Amino acid sequence: MSARKSDLVIVYHRQPYEEVIEDGVLVRRENKSPNGIVPTLKSFFGHVDQGSWIAWKEASDPERPEFDRVVEISDAYGDYRVSRLPLTAEQVRSFYHVTSKEALWPVLHAFRERYNYDPVDWPTFREVNFAFAQAAAREASDDATIWVHDYNLWLVPEYLRQMKPNAKIGFFHHTPFPGPDVFNILPWRYEIVGSLLKCDVVGFHIPRFAQNFVAVSESLFDVSDVERKFVDMKGSRIRPALSELKAPTSLVHEGRKVGILATPVGIDVNYVEDCAATAETTALEKRIEEELDGKRLVLSVSRTDYTKGGAELLYAYERLLERRTELHGKVRLMFVSVAANNGMAVYEQVQQELEGIAGRINAQFARFDWQPVHLLSTPIPFKELVAFYRQADVCWITPLADGLNLVAKEFAAARTDGDGVLVLSEFAGVAVELPQAVLCNPFSARSMDHTIDQALDMPEEERRLRMSAMRGVTRDHTIGDWAEDLRLAFSNVDGQVEFSDTRDVA
Ligand code: UDP
Repeated sequence: MSARKSDLVIVYHRQPYEEVIEDGVLVRRENKSPNGIVPTLKSFFGHVDQGSWIAWKEASDPERPEFDRVVEISDAYGDYRVSRLPLTAEQVRSFYHVTSKEALWPVLHAFRERYNYDPVDWPTFREVNFAFAQAAAREASDDATIWVHDYNLWLVPEYLRQMKPNAKIGFFHHTPFPGPDVFNILPWRYEIVGSLLKCDVVGFHIPRFAQNFVAVSESLFDVSDVERKFVDMKGSRIRPALSELKAPTSLVHEGRKVGILATPVGIDVNYVEDCAATAETTALEKRIEEELDGKRLVLSVSRTDYTKGGAELLYAYERLLERRTELHGKVRLMFVSVAANNGMAVYEQVQQELEGIAGRINAQFARFDWQPVHLLSTPIPFKELVAFYRQADVCWITPLADGLNLVAKEFAAARTDGDGVLVLSEFAGVAVELPQAVLCNPFSARSMDHTIDQALDMPEEERRLRMSAMRGVTRDHTIGDWAEDLRLAFSNVDGQVEFSDTRDVA
């Protein structure tokens, strides 16, 4: 292993490739879908002399893992190191499935009633975060840029700041961030926010989440000099529930300036459009069209999670079929809800609930030649999903809370034909970017009913106008632009530019 320290260290819980067994041998493969943040983050390695990625990997004995802790990778993105932090199955369960998913996740999404304090083992959460920080510090040069991703690593910045006082530390949240009334439910709030305030830059998808972070910080610590700028509304007069007129850009805590960034993750629009143009996609589209046989396709795609509002959507579909009997035999809902397969009881309950409602709808309305709902729980490969996006009359995305929602952007990018209607929850971060969607309030049955009617009855001219606007927004802020915003935020820390532009490679 080269002893050379890295100028850029990315700390993300997953390894930047998939590990699969082929002919009894473990091999590393590029992630199946290049449309995600992992390849974008990796693309930065092509622009620094030495880069490292920190992730965890399960080991029966972390003192003597059955794998090399650090591996050198050479791929299309450059040469970089991956440091695999060995964690026991019990550490992973406690830090990830219990503390992160049962206590932190519900609070981040403002589901107070689902917050479960009792099984949390905070010392283990600390221990795992400390180990991540140590692994990052071992890789990093003294003035390296270190990017930490997502809430399960909240305590890493504080530990890192002690180990590497001159490093530039950034943290990006891929989830919502609630205001103090909800966030301060967490008994570890001082420790978490104190750690985040040790960063040079703290990032969020949208101004509301950044604003909530400032409000939480002000409720707990003596912070001052909060700077704000007006948000560019891009000419839209529609203000979805999560929109803000101003976004905070920095605050001062203990004499240090902390940059605050609101920039939503984008998608690789060119990649999605390329997928849309392949012969395989055209062939699959043809098969879908034949199968639909003139019926209209309503498509919903999400993970099986209570935050995604799957039950509320199915109830709305049931009411639609009760209300509009003329749609019987003429509409099909393809409800893709991908189960997490992590054995967590809470997700199994959601899955059972969805199966129960879908089963009831089919039992009540199905005919020999018509099944109203198709519930799919295994993931559809992205390239196939593109064909379904293109064949859908309506894409129905109604989470109760969502950090962003990439499916909405993918749907718009896939519609190179310029048609299709997006019904979108106001409580998905992406609604702030896509006010031209048919915005709905998933907490209101009346709003759910009204908006699905509006979508199904929308004249073609209006559909095309809205889709054209949404496609423009999606293209205007791609995953490359998101990465560029992060790069600029780091550059502003002390006026130095760390690594060169990545817009062309992301
Ligand atoms: N996805 C997929 N196949 C499926 C369902 C989902 O490839 O069957 C992908 C989808 O294309 C999107 C991601 O999973 O890129 C879901 O991201 P999103 O931001 O919508 O939700 P999250 O799961 O991150 O909350």
